[in-house]
Amino acid sequence: MRIAEVTSVRVPMSLVDPLRTSHGVHASRTASLVRVTTVDGAVGWGEDVAPAGVTYVGEDAAASFGSLMRHAPLLGGREVHPGEMNADSWWGTQGSRFAKHALESAAWDAFARSHGLALVRALGGEPRPVTPGVVVGVHDDIADTVVAVRRRVAEGYRRVKLKIEPGRDIDAVRAVRAELGPGFALQVDANGAYSPDDFAHLLLLDEFALQFVEQPFAAHELQAHAELARRASTPVCLDESIVTHDDLLRAIDTGACSVVNVKPSRVGGLADAVAMHAVLRDAGIDAWVGGMLETGIGRASCLALAALPGFTLTTDLGASGRYFARDVTEPFVLRDGVLTLPEGPGTGVEPLPWVFDDPATVIETLFRA
Ligand code: MG
Repeated sequence: MRIAEVTSVRVPMSLVDPLRTSHGVHASRTASLVRVTTVDGAVGWGEDVAPAGVTYVGEDAAASFGSLMRHAPLLGGREVHPGEMNADSWWGTQGSRFAKHALESAAWDAFARSHGLALVRALGGEPRPVTPGVVVGVHDDIADTVVAVRRRVAEGYRRVKLKIEPGRDIDAVRAVRAELGPGFALQVDANGAYSPDDFAHLLLLDEFALQFVEQPFAAHELQAHAELARRASTPVCLDESIVTHDDLLRAIDTGACSVVNVKPSRVGGLADAVAMHAVLRDAGIDAWVGGMLETGIGRASCLALAALPGFTLTTDLGASGRYFARDVTEPFVLRDGVLTLPEGPGTGVEPLPWVFDDPATVIETLFRA
């Protein structure tokens, strides 16, 4: 496959419900979409989901857009097979994983479309409905947290992931567990907000029969995660700690996780995510696909990935309406607690006409052969 053109399409989006995590509040974002066109005219779409104002794996949204501009021309003048576009070796550069993922996932979409294949099949899986969980952000008031959880359960979600941070954790989790009842799947995510000094405090989470605690310590604190995994009955899930293949192998070797959140954007591409899926499956470690406030473009490719059989736990990619009043694609809608993968080749979705008609949309050619 040869790429003739790469185009950036940036669309300002506001979130229906600002999401607060231990990193800060996300109230709006610019959807950074990328379109690749092959010399044969096949088109594929990807999305750069680097968060604004948060340096996550080294780059925020603005820096990542610079990376996108620098990396797009590397797709030209060579044969491109998305299965080989490893983030560490194929591009000849280090880092820039969000931008590489955007370009690589667009290449996957174009590849799948040009072969008349659904993306999930191109990735080696079979289409299946995906049961999503829903993320509930940090609230100052526990009563507000409980109201938010009640609303999401009424919408049909069967799993809840609660964001926690020091000072807004044990009592909030207790109240949410009481609201949900003992059998409901409940997870917590700290986004690395605790220090190893908080060890005894984190053991208090064992009382609540959580499915897991996600990334309690900073990304580099592998030993602290390993020790918590040994001493706590709550399974430990890693997110920010796992960027490279070596990170994953080291985490497994040290016993730092019994669950892994694989985000294709964080690891630099769908091919790297599929490779990690294989390692986790062979190791018998539970895994799931995590979201980063994707629009329908990124959501569709994450859901295709989440349908692979080794992703044994619920993704936190909710329906479009959880995030945006108006999505860039046909919205993903929760029906009977599940999201269905779109029909059709590739991801099965593309941007709707309003995206191109909106005067706030910025369209730029990044590369043309
Ligand atoms: Mg997380």
